Amino acid sequence: MTTGALPRASEVRDCKLFIDGRWEDAADGDRFDTVDPARGVPLAHVAHAKAADVDRAVAAARRAFDAGPWPRAPERERGRVLIRAAEVVRRERRRLAELEVLDSGKPIGEALEDIDEAAFMFEYYGGWATKVMGAIPPVGPDALSLVVKEPVGVAGLIVPWNYPLLMAVQKLAPALAAGCTCVVKPAEQTPLTALELPEILREAGLPDGALNVVTGYGPTAGLPLVQHPKVDKISFTGSLEVGQLVMRESADSVKRVTLELGGKSPNIIFNDASFERAIDGTCFGIFWNQGEVCSAGSRILVQAKVYDRALEALRKRAGGVRLGHGLDAGTTMGPLVSAEQRDRVQGYIDSGLAEGAKLVTPSPTPAAPDLASGYFVPPTLFYDVDRSMRIAREEIFGPVGVVIPFHDIDDAVDLANDTDYGLAAAVWTNDITRAIRTARALRAGTVWINDSQPAPTETVWGGYKRSGFGRELGPWGLEDFLETKHIYINLKGD
Ligand code: NAD
Repeated sequence: MTTGALPRASEVRDCKLFIDGRWEDAADGDRFDTVDPARGVPLAHVAHAKAADVDRAVAAARRAFDAGPWPRAPERERGRVLIRAAEVVRRERRRLAELEVLDSGKPIGEALEDIDEAAFMFEYYGGWATKVMGAIPPVGPDALSLVVKEPVGVAGLIVPWNYPLLMAVQKLAPALAAGCTCVVKPAEQTPLTALELPEILREAGLPDGALNVVTGYGPTAGLPLVQHPKVDKISFTGSLEVGQLVMRESADSVKRVTLELGGKSPNIIFNDASFERAIDGTCFGIFWNQGEVCSAGSRILVQAKVYDRALEALRKRAGGVRLGHGLDAGTTMGPLVSAEQRDRVQGYIDSGLAEGAKLVTPSPTPAAPDLASGYFVPPTLFYDVDRSMRIAREEIFGPVGVVIPFHDIDDAVDLANDTDYGLAAAVWTNDITRAIRTARALRAGTVWINDSQPAPTETVWGGYKRSGFGRELGPWGLEDFLETKHIYINLKGD
């Protein structure tokens, strides 16, 4: 194990809120701990923001929007700040990745990929700052219509714990490129890398007030942000239940809302698929990031002819997963993010067994003795699953999947679409017609063909059905932070 980055108890640090360019304690001095989930020990004492702190942060963002330099800066200057932020993230790559591992549990290789993509997002949206275009629709010879794009205003960005820095930057980079000012609310389980953003952006040249970070729990720090009358837009990534609440609570002030919610994504393997590649991709789709992925391929649908062979291959692959501390180079799966999440996932495993499903996967490999207090759950796949079982219908958000056989393309599509969610789906086949027909029939925001999980920054991300609405990534992610204004000029002579 590379233990160099593991903090000792004496190194547990204090983290403050970032408001209007200053690091501050919560007004009531309250704090909470964030822990290393592999060892169950505290990493940092973090300021616990309440409504009064959120109010100060929103006031700072409001002033910065209404009278500050950021929304008024030339687009090319805004772009340069974001591109410089990308450079700082790259310089700090290793440190940020180790911090992410310690706070979230994920393996270091995956954390490094997150940090690299976050750097690229800053660069990508830095480029977009100068490319937001309006339009001049034709309205006849006696008038001129200008359709212009403007920043939506103060944006509240509420972030989940599974990709702490990446999800924060996925919202922050387009919001800043658009000229918005922001209040970021990281997840209480994983606030540490988001708390690095203020100094990264300060070094890059972002003026005070344009970015504020309030750490704390959902009901005490997140909700006041959603309810705040001076916030124009909420971009939320998290669970369906909280997303529904965000939508309700945004209604009074008619806030613009983007919701990136959960999933129960199908992963469809047809008989003719390249078998080993499909199995590798399927395992990646459900075990990557400990299965704590909104688009995890948690419903593995396998065509009847290759079903038994797939069960055996999946069993072998799952048996080869190495649980451990994310900073250990040999680890292929880390712990879940918290004791609460481990218990929740374990509850689903128990419910699957109680409902009569059978385990594909071998007995769990115990974690090393020094990780006995960590929140580990081994990779777990079920067969003999009925589509009505809870494990087949509800988002588990852990390394737990179900394997269900199907007969033909209609059967596969019927099973795949039989969910309230619609975030993503994977299709494994070498028949192009079948691949495209299936992709078109699936009600999901992303369909991968012969792959699982890629979501490059240049593309688009978002859900159908109860997986949410609005889009992130690419130009679509920028559009969600823009208003559209019509300026009409009467050209009639006297
Ligand atoms: P969560 O809904 O519990 O929390 C998400 C964020 O919302 C956190 O910052 C939390 O503090 C905050 N929050 C909680 N209650 C709140 C409230 N009452 N008011 C305002 N904010 C509140 O979700 P989570 O457990 O952190 O993340 C897991 C969920 O996120 C899963 O359902 C997963 O599918 C989803 N997710 C979706 C995507 C996507 O792109 N669609 C990406 C990642 C995660």
